[in-house]
Amino acid sequence: MTIGILAVQGAFVEHQNMLNKLGVNHFEIRQPKDLLIPMDGLILPGGESTAMRKLLDDLGMFSTLKEMIAQGLPTLGTCAGMILLAKHLTNQEQSHMQLMDIDVKRNAYGRQLGSFFTTNTFADRMIPMTFIRAPFINRVGQDVNILSTVDGHIVAARQKHMLATAFHPELTGSTYVHEYFLQMIGHGSI
Ligand code: GLN
Repeated sequence: MTIGILAVQGAFVEHQNMLNKLGVNHFEIRQPKDLLIPMDGLILPGGESTAMRKLLDDLGMFSTLKEMIAQGLPTLGTCAGMILLAKHLTNQEQSHMQLMDIDVKRNAYGRQLGSFFTTNTFADRMIPMTFIRAPFINRVGQDVNILSTVDGHIVAARQKHMLATAFHPELTGSTYVHEYFLQMIGHGSI
């Protein structure tokens, strides 16, 4: 199995480290030709969604990537990656791929609380969660499963082949979210 990790901006190295821990093959997506490499799954990392969108447009990758996910490529979007996937952003006009039926509020915790660490339930397990200038989800569509709620706010969800977290699972010691994603793709044993 091979996972492509978008590597134009943000915390992609930490996702590589997680997949290394799990013994999963991966490669960096930096330019359009990388999208021709066969992949079983895709990771859209955290970082800065506006910068990431601009780079994807400038590099000529936005539409292809969007189409690949729309066609069913299993995708994990963390933080800025979740913002890229969202159908609607509640506090800015421009949304991005609009593929996942969730509304997302950027920088939703305000400046002071934008970065924090907590331990909470994801799916069926307690895991550590690192939030950095984090968004949260304020609406989910009918076929979206809520996987995690922190202080009344939805911070992880799944719709079919798309998994999104407001926090950074790759910045903690737990590989559980990545294992969950691999199992979603049909590999792994959770
Ligand atoms: N605040 C960032 C954004 O709006 C996301 C933060 C993150 O990915 N850690 O893109």
